[in-house]
This record gives sequence, C-alpha cells and structure tokens, in this order.
Amino acid sequence: MSQARRPNVVMILTDDHAAHAVGAYGSVVNSTPRIDEIAAEGWRFDNCFATNSLCSPSRASIITGTYGHVNGVTTLETPIDASQPTFVSQLREAGYRTAIVGKWHMGDGEGHDPQGFDYWDVLIEQGEYHDPTFLSVDGLRTERGYATEIITDLALNWVEQLEPDVPWCVLIFHKAPHRPWQPDAKHAEMYSEPIPVPATFTDDYSTRTSSARRAAMRIAEHLNADDLKVDPPAGLDYEAEALWKYQRYMEDYLRCVASVDDNVGRVIDWLRERGDFDDTLLMYSSDQGFFLGDHGWFDKRFMYEESIRMPLLMSYPRAAAPGGVATGIVTNVDFARTILEAAGVPAHPRMQGRSFWSDVTNAVDGEPPAEGFYYRYWEHDDVFHKAPAHYGYRSSRYKLIYFYNDGLGLPGTGPFAYAGEWELYDLERDPDELHNVAHDPDYAEVFAEMQVKLSRAQADVGDAPHANQAAVTA
Ligand code: CA
Repeated sequence: MSQARRPNVVMILTDDHAAHAVGAYGSVVNSTPRIDEIAAEGWRFDNCFATNSLCSPSRASIITGTYGHVNGVTTLETPIDASQPTFVSQLREAGYRTAIVGKWHMGDGEGHDPQGFDYWDVLIEQGEYHDPTFLSVDGLRTERGYATEIITDLALNWVEQLEPDVPWCVLIFHKAPHRPWQPDAKHAEMYSEPIPVPATFTDDYSTRTSSARRAAMRIAEHLNADDLKVDPPAGLDYEAEALWKYQRYMEDYLRCVASVDDNVGRVIDWLRERGDFDDTLLMYSSDQGFFLGDHGWFDKRFMYEESIRMPLLMSYPRAAAPGGVATGIVTNVDFARTILEAAGVPAHPRMQGRSFWSDVTNAVDGEPPAEGFYYRYWEHDDVFHKAPAHYGYRSSRYKLIYFYNDGLGLPGTGPFAYAGEWELYDLERDPDELHNVAHDPDYAEVFAEMQVKLSRAQADVGDAPHANQAAVTA
C-alpha cells in the first residue's frame, strides 16, 4: 500500500491499564468495544512488555526510546532531563506539529517540564480525576470536570486549530485507571455484579523468594480507605473480606477504564469525521500492566506477567492491513523507533530498542524479532509497596529474575540485609508463574543458560550487574 502522505500520530497512553482488562485481549472482567476497534482496524501485540513496570520510568522509555539507566528515569524520584531527544522532538524537527496533554509525571520545574512540544498541558505529578489542575506555559489552572474527558477535549481542540496539511503528533496521556480509582459519575453504577476472581487470587507464594511475601500490595491487607471509599461490612472472615475488597477495587478500576473506552471512541469518531483515520498512526497502550487480584495483589513493579505485559493496539490503515496479531516480543523501549519508522523520520542514533514497524508491514528488510528482553525495577527503597529492586531476562519460554535485596529501606535493614535471590519460571508449563524452578535440578541447565542470556542482555543495553550478584553466581 502506498504512503502518499506522512501519517498523523495519536498515542493514547493510560496509566496502569492491564492488558487482561481489554476486550481485545480476551478480558473476562469487562468489555472495551471502542479500544477493541483499534485492534480490528489494525494490529494487536500479544507480547508487549515494560522494561521497568513503573509509571515514570516507562513513560521515559516510551518517549526517549532508551532504558532507564540511559534516560536517567529509573524510579519515581528521578525526574527526567527533558532536553533529551524523543520521538516527538524528532518528529518536530521533521516538520510535525506536536503536543502532549494529560499525565506527564516525569517531574516538573526547570529542565523537567515537557520539551519538544508546540503545546503541552499536563497534570501535576499524579494529577486528579475530578476538577484536575493543569500546568502549561501559561502557568497553573483548574479545569472543571472529569480528567479523562478533559484531556481528550484539550487534545482534539489543539489539533483543530492547526493549519491544514501539516502532519501532527498528539500524546493523549490519561491518569486513568491509576489509583485511587475515582470513576466519572456516569459510570458509577457499572460492574456491580460479582466480578470473576482470578485463579491465582490465593497464591501463597510458597516457592517464590522472600520478595513476594514482603511486598505490601495484597488486596486483603494493603488497600486503604481512600482506595476502598467505604468500610468493609463487619463480621467478615479474612477470605470473605479479601473477596469483598477485590470486588470494591475492581468495580472502580473498571469504571475508570469505561471512561477511557468512551474517550478512545471519541478520538476514533473524530478521526473518521475529519477523514484522517486511514492516514493516522493510532496507538493505544498503557505504561505497564497491573495485578487485578492476580496472586492476591493490586499494583505492578514485579517482573511477573500481569505487571509487565502492556496492551498495545495500533492502526494505520493506509500502510498496514487490518486484523493482524503480532506475537513476537516488543517493549516500551521499541516504541520510539517504531513510530519514527512508520512516519519516515530518522531515529536519533541514541535510541535503543528495535523498530517493529516491519512486523506489521511484512517488509523483508526489517530487523529480526527479539529473542527476549532485559528488565530492571530499580526502586529498592519504596517503604510503601516494599517491592524490592530486581532485574531479569524474559525469553519466549523462560523468565529469570534476580532480586538483589540491597538496602530495602526498611527499619533495621541496610545494604545487603538479605542475600540475593533467584527465581526461574517455565512459562510454557507454568504460565501463571506459581512454581519457581531456580533450584530444581531438572532446570539446572536452563538456569545456567538464562544467566548467560541475562548477562549478555544487560551488557548489550549498557547496564551492569549489581555488586552482590557475584556472590550468588560463583
Ligand atoms: Ca503506571
């Protein structure tokens, strides 16, 4: 198919929207008919992963096309140097008009506010669901209404005032469905019927390292009053209360997703009305996945499947035939180079990852698929979630994780408070990751091979092992 004009780019990025709460991915807990339209008109990526399952780091990787140790955004406390090249700044240099509206969340103030955009209008840090405050070049202001609707309105309004015949790129970055899950009033009655409970809800973490047991992300114990909004009924036993909290949590989470779905629909309808749909690279993704009661948890951070798997749907009918499913491994670091290739704009030489644009166009000269990817969660001093730092490597079949357990920031602990610990999963035999086989003699060879692959992947992206790893791999 011909590519007569440069595509517009619309990236709709949500916060913490797990792929298993998207209809196109077979959700059993909700439906998302409007988001699913992008898959029907384009492509669904079944193995798209975050290289650090945390909000700010994933956003930085998405826009810069680099890993956290390169772009400097390794945790929530490491603001971005916003002068770095991004796919947006590359598009702008090539003549695109560019904008971001919504959640930036990579720091604010001098040097950290968005750069490379003709227009930016962003929430402060996590932002608010109701009557959100925005920061732009004109300073702070409050908008009345619901964030997901307002962000969509502002983005479309900006495009509509552009001069015709100039390509544009707009990032529509929602707060939803991030904690504390406050739905729009119009969705407040949805999902009040019992929501299916995942099979791993009562995971006892028996074969995992101490890391999983220490994490303060359990639905039964760690959702707070702001999360739940109402107190549990009196007299419930532990299991019944856990299920009550699960239902309460999921109702509000899915109601927030319902507004996202409506607003994705508004963007699609608007593109069609303008006659732009076929010539627009429209992407729907989320900065990472989320535990939806899987393993008894909410939140993300861990290198387990539900956390790292990102939904990624992408349409550009003029250039890519509809209805495709891509099963190769792609990551958030790959987005920048992929978008630039689709737009015919050179990537910045600093950008890492791999363009997967050829996967959807079947170009014969595309880069070969990745065998696996490197992951690192850096935030070892988060005393709130207590998910310790770790790194690992995931191939199509196996996943190796190393928890280096350095300086957990907990009372009475210091550097090397615990020895490093390994987990290994055979995703083919154990897709739910319930059986850590790192110390299973039958997997000794796989364990050794995966350690080599991890070291190689770590070195390839320019990262280095933690100081205490030598002691456990000797
Ligand atoms: Ca997030």
